[in-house]
Amino acid sequence: MMVGDREKAEQWCLRVPAGKGEDARQALIRETALDRAFKPRRDGGDLLLPIIEWREGADRCPFDSNPDRPLLPRHELIGGIAVMQERDVDGATRILASRPSLHTVLFATSEVGGEHRTRSFEVLAGTPTTRTECREYGHRFEVDLTSAYFSARLATERHRIATLIGNGETVLDMFAGVGPFAISFSDRARLVVAADINPHAIDLMLENIARNHTRLVLPVLADARHLADCIPWQFDRIIMNLPKSGELFLPVAFRLCKNGGKIHFYALVSKEGEHRDLIEKLGGGIIDEQVVRSYSPAQWHAVYDIKKKE
Ligand code: SAM
Repeated sequence: MMVGDREKAEQWCLRVPAGKGEDARQALIRETALDRAFKPRRDGGDLLLPIIEWREGADRCPFDSNPDRPLLPRHELIGGIAVMQERDVDGATRILASRPSLHTVLFATSEVGGEHRTRSFEVLAGTPTTRTECREYGHRFEVDLTSAYFSARLATERHRIATLIGNGETVLDMFAGVGPFAISFSDRARLVVAADINPHAIDLMLENIARNHTRLVLPVLADARHLADCIPWQFDRIIMNLPKSGELFLPVAFRLCKNGGKIHFYALVSKEGEHRDLIEKLGGGIIDEQVVRSYSPAQWHAVYDIKKKE
C-alpha cells in the first residue's frame, strides 16, 4: 500500500451500514483504530471506514488521503514498518509520529533483486529493525524485509485464491517465501507443500506455521527446478509467484499438476496474453488473466489462472 502525495491507496477497512456509520466511526476513534490518514467514503448504502490494521471482517478498498491531515512523504506500510522511496529523515520522523502502530521507518537502498528477491534498507527513524508482524485475513506473518521477500500488497490476491480452494485439495506453492499464500490456504486444503530456495524464508515460514497453529503446511528448502524429480505425486493446485522468471518453471508446474488441476501463474508482462502460446503448448487453458498491480508505465504483474487439460 502506498500512502502520501494525496493519492488513492488500498487500505484495510470496515464496511458498515451508513445509518450506523457515525457510531462505528466514533467507536474506532476511541480504540485508536481509525486510520485518519484516509477519508472514510460511501459505497452504495454503506460507509467504508479505513482502519490501521486488519481485524475480523476487514477488507481492502481504495481510499483518498485525508485532505485535513498534513501531507506525508510517499511510503509503503508493511506491518509496523513504513518503507520510504526517498531518503528523507524529517519526513521519516513525521511518518513515525503519524500512526501509533508504526515502530520503524526504512529507506530502501536497493531494488528487489537476486535469487531471493530481497532488498537492503537503511533505518531512518524508530527501532533499528527490519522485522515486523503483518496481519491479514486472520493470519499473522512474521517478516524480515532484508532476509526474505514479503509484499503486503498481495493480501487481496492471497485471499482471492484462498476462497477458490476446495475442501481437501492438495496445493503446491513453488516460490513460497515466508509462507503467506501457503498458510492462508491451510484452513481448507488437505496439504500445502511450500518450497523456497532461501533458507531464511524457510526459517520464517516455520515461525509462521507455529504462530498460526497451522498443521498442514510442509516447508521444503529446494530449488523449484528439481521438485518434479523428488515429489512423487501430483497436486490439485499450484501457485507460482516468481513474476520475473516464473515462465521458466512452467514445465515443472505442469508435470506436478493433476489433469484438470489449476495453476496460478504470476508474471511481469507488457501485453495481454504474453504467455498464452507457452501455456497452451504445455497443455493448459487460460481460465482468466487479471492485472494484480502495475509495475511501470509499460509493464504490470498479471496472474494467469490456468486449467491443465484432462
Ligand atoms: N510467494 C511469496 C510471497 O508472496 O510472499 C514469495 C514470492 S517472491 C516474489 C519469490 C520467492 O521465490 C522468493 O522467496 C525466492 O527466494 C524464491 N525463489 C527464487 N528462485 C527460486 C527457485 N529456483 N526455487 C525455489 N524458490 C525460489
